[in-house]
Amino acid sequence: MSIKQNLNDIKSQLPNQVTLVAVSKTKPISDLMEAYDAGQRIFGENKIQEMADKYEEMPKDIEWHMIGHVQRNKVKYMAEFVSLIHGVDSFKLFKEINKQALKYDRIINCLIQIKIAEEDSKFGMSAKDAQEMLISEEFKNLKNVTIAGLMGMATFTDDDTQVKQEFKRLKTTFDDLKWLKSENCNLEIISMGMSGDYKLAIECGSNMIRVGSSIFGVRNYTN
Ligand SMILES: *Cc1c(COP(=O)(O)O)cnc(C)c1O
Repeated sequence: MSIKQNLNDIKSQLPNQVTLVAVSKTKPISDLMEAYDAGQRIFGENKIQEMADKYEEMPKDIEWHMIGHVQRNKVKYMAEFVSLIHGVDSFKLFKEINKQALKYDRIINCLIQIKIAEEDSKFGMSAKDAQEMLISEEFKNLKNVTIAGLMGMATFTDDDTQVKQEFKRLKTTFDDLKWLKSENCNLEIISMGMSGDYKLAIECGSNMIRVGSSIFGVRNYTN
């Protein structure tokens, strides 16, 4: 199957409210252009430098999503163009994003990454820490970031029951926090679900899925 066929196949099965982020990390520009030519405009990358390089070379109507773990000292390399940062997991990081966004006179949309997985390897804030941050005055004073929703990653396992439980944890957290509206906080996006589990994620309330290998094929990290 071609990239275009894969994309069309996935899109034809998605409910209207679900946004598809095409995860193009490690893939060459030619692959991304194939998706672009098939109509895809939202791409997700997990390395800031790689995303910046691709941004330079590709059409400017693309929305670039940073889906990986973000190091504070690298925010400056994407502040000019990134359209959504999924993995924000600390107040310190928000402050840095705010600072860099200000330099470009932009407001950068972010998602709070919530730790939903049982396994320790995954990043994220607890629901309680997220809530405390969102209601703090210091947070409300950050004028150049907006919290548009939450992101979560389930444990890497074949156990659907566990994955479902973790996805539901994110949906519950979303429902608990979405009432906390302020000038820079309006939770609308629930980013969860990847190639292996996006159908389950949508059943559990996801409205943004991050799909890589089902579109572009398996990744080869060695080249
Ligand atoms: C790589 C990655 C994805 C996509 O994974 P696939 O299994 O290839 O669909 C989604 N989310 C994050 C955070 C990733 O790093």
